[in-house]
Amino acid sequence: MDIRINIDRLRNDLEELGRVGRDAGGGISRPSFSPADLEARAWLRKKIEASGLLYRQDGAGNQFGRIEGRGKAVMAGSHIDTVINGGMFDGAAGVLAALECLRRIREAKIPVTKPLEVASFTDEEGNLVGDFLGSRAFMGLLDKDEVAHGRTAFGLSFVDILKGTDFTIETILEAHKMRPELEVYLELHIEQGSVLEDEGVPVGIVETIAGKHYRQCSFIGLAAHAGTTPLELRQDAFLGLADFALKATQHVATRHYGSMVTIGRVVLHPGAFSIVPARADFTFEFRSPDAATLEALETELFAIAGEVASTRGLGFASRIVDRTTPVNVAPRLMSLMEEEGRALGYPTMRLTSGAGHDAQIIASGCDAGMIFIPCADGLSHSPAEKISWEDLEKGANLLLRALVRLAS
Ligand SMILES: [Zn+2]
Repeated sequence: MDIRINIDRLRNDLEELGRVGRDAGGGISRPSFSPADLEARAWLRKKIEASGLLYRQDGAGNQFGRIEGRGKAVMAGSHIDTVINGGMFDGAAGVLAALECLRRIREAKIPVTKPLEVASFTDEEGNLVGDFLGSRAFMGLLDKDEVAHGRTAFGLSFVDILKGTDFTIETILEAHKMRPELEVYLELHIEQGSVLEDEGVPVGIVETIAGKHYRQCSFIGLAAHAGTTPLELRQDAFLGLADFALKATQHVATRHYGSMVTIGRVVLHPGAFSIVPARADFTFEFRSPDAATLEALETELFAIAGEVASTRGLGFASRIVDRTTPVNVAPRLMSLMEEEGRALGYPTMRLTSGAGHDAQIIASGCDAGMIFIPCADGLSHSPAEKISWEDLEKGANLLLRALVRLAS
């Protein structure tokens, strides 16, 4: 069987979708349930229906297109929402490549036996209430309280945002009841790093998807006059944070190569001239591809925070915001994709995904695998996100052959 995707049609789809939600910064701003996202959803629905697939949407707004078959479904997809001022390939490449694969399978009348589905998951980017809203709803993994009381990145409550849509907290929490039984899930995605580009390899087979902890933390000190309080008598919350940031980073860099630690947002209180900071609130995240390391990091990093706090006379507080566990891709899936890569004459390599993906959530219910394609300079979540169409063609051809094999 020599079946290939139609790259011109796939490129055209990506460019069409890439015009929805264009922002003044030259990027795309298409958070889930925004007017731009609703327009993109209507566009995707038309594309799925025009391809002769059975269209379905669940209570979380996840969209699907299906070729009927017997037994558990073979699914491929990703997401079409974006970060604010993002690029046109993150997520969209995976949904539209999967759609193209199913279209080719129908056109070429490839005799598959299992049902095949393309999926587009809601709010992968976490603009609303935590990452992976759609895939978590699909797998029945949402925390009811978090969703019902969530404040979104836009200052509105989640419930308020839903008022402009066909969905409610209840429909979202019930979405998993419509899930078909899954045999396997595959996701093509841009790498969002530069390993493939540096190695000159067009297609990556993901081996592990890193897990992460998101925490909201604070060092708590004492406000004091910045002109009269001697340095050695201060309980300066910011200095605690600065000290901790350096020590935590150094610890991870020297003891846990390949793991990550990041402080992404800092707010100082009261935050003014002439006042020693009384409190430093900050987002704190750490990631690792290895579950035992992720657990060790939690213990070790909080021990460092405790030491810094006690040396500097500060308090330390922390609450968990989100966490995912690392996922190892099933060896049979990696081998299958490598075999198909060889059959196509494409060099492939195995690599780790430092970023989280819907595949990681869906892996809680079935085997899940990922295909990465390079993106220029590793840039993503940016209007500068760029890929080569040849790489996309290769990644999508590999996805196509893997899907046919898995569904046969
Ligand atoms: Zn993505």
